Amino acid sequence: MEKIILTGDRPTGRLHLGHYVGSLKRRVELQNSGEYDKIFIMIADAQALTDNADNPEKVRQNIVEVALDYLSVGLDPAKSTLFIQSMVPELTELTFYYANLVTVSRLQRNPTVKSEIQMRNFETSIPVGFFTYPISQAADITAFKATTVPVGEDQMPMLEQCQEIVHKFNSVYGEALVEPKILLPENSACLRLPGTDGKAKMSKSLGNAIYLADDEKELKTKVMSMYTDPNHINVSDPGQVEGNTVFTYLDAFSKPEDFEEFLPEYKSLDELKDHYKRGGLGDVKVKKFLIKVLEKELAPIRERRKQWEQNIPGVYEILKKGSEVAEAVAAQTLADVKAAMKINYFDDGALIKEQMEKYGNK
Ligand code: ATP
Ligand code: MG
Repeated sequence: MEKIILTGDRPTGRLHLGHYVGSLKRRVELQNSGEYDKIFIMIADAQALTDNADNPEKVRQNIVEVALDYLSVGLDPAKSTLFIQSMVPELTELTFYYANLVTVSRLQRNPTVKSEIQMRNFETSIPVGFFTYPISQAADITAFKATTVPVGEDQMPMLEQCQEIVHKFNSVYGEALVEPKILLPENSACLRLPGTDGKAKMSKSLGNAIYLADDEKELKTKVMSMYTDPNHINVSDPGQVEGNTVFTYLDAFSKPEDFEEFLPEYKSLDELKDHYKRGGLGDVKVKKFLIKVLEKELAPIRERRKQWEQNIPGVYEILKKGSEVAEAVAAQTLADVKAAMKINYFDDGALIKEQMEKYGNK
């Protein structure tokens, strides 16, 4: 069986460190591993419109921002198909048929949908499109017959819902769909990177993000104002590393060689943590180290972005070509799905013959 990746992001803002450790970095590694037959990376504009219906301009503007972020982290259009969701209308048609296989109560129980409804204060005014977006996400994944979906932990309920749809479809209509597997980050700090304010998830919508495109000055300001241990007031106080965002980011980003390069008085992150827990290590010193660690990773990304920013028509061309490739693949799956559902009235000779016999046609 072919190994196929599908994943993507909503164009609701620029991409940030949460996206980077939760999914982007992994995608680039998988892309360059050469182990996958096909890789599809989708800018989910139609999904972004489900909770931004009154702000299509925001979605429109952010398509190119997300594409620039993709290219800047090293996604390579020669190896991965970068495309825009709405440019593949077959995805909408698949969603429509899958919707019959999912109950309202099942959607209501989806924990990610639940918490996102709460976060957006939708309460009694949930747009139908938003409520049903897990179904459209299942269409996105299955349209490409994806076997692997590299995403952050918040996407786990979406993948479970998708697997249920695949099972249901295959058992009712016959094996036409491929069951995907989620690929979560191996480093537990990356499963759900917290925001700079210490809140559970770094998110575009919560204003607690460090963006890949932030310049060095912005990066420094954001790290210096990051949430740490509120009880660690004097340098001599013992500090807590659990729930301390600066240490969580070091868990996510620092490598053993960073200590040698930037903080040689410590051999490892464990040593640094031990000193902080004992007392005698100030937040500023740890934050300055984190800035260096992040800057080392982000500077080349920023540079590559600057180059692509000078070639906007080239970026749109990549998305246009990618969308054409993606549409051809999705069209084949849609044809398989409709054939399995027996929605193929005009090219089913047996059906026409059956009807002819029923009415005694010669
Ligand atoms: P929005 O608020 O518009 O939903 P978002 O910041 O949640 O935006 P998405 O586009 O929904 O971003 O998510 C894209 C991908 O990034 C998904 O794979 C998701 O799991 C991952 N991701 C987003 N935020 C984080 C985070 N803080 N930590 C780890 N992974 C994340
Ligand atoms: Mg999200």
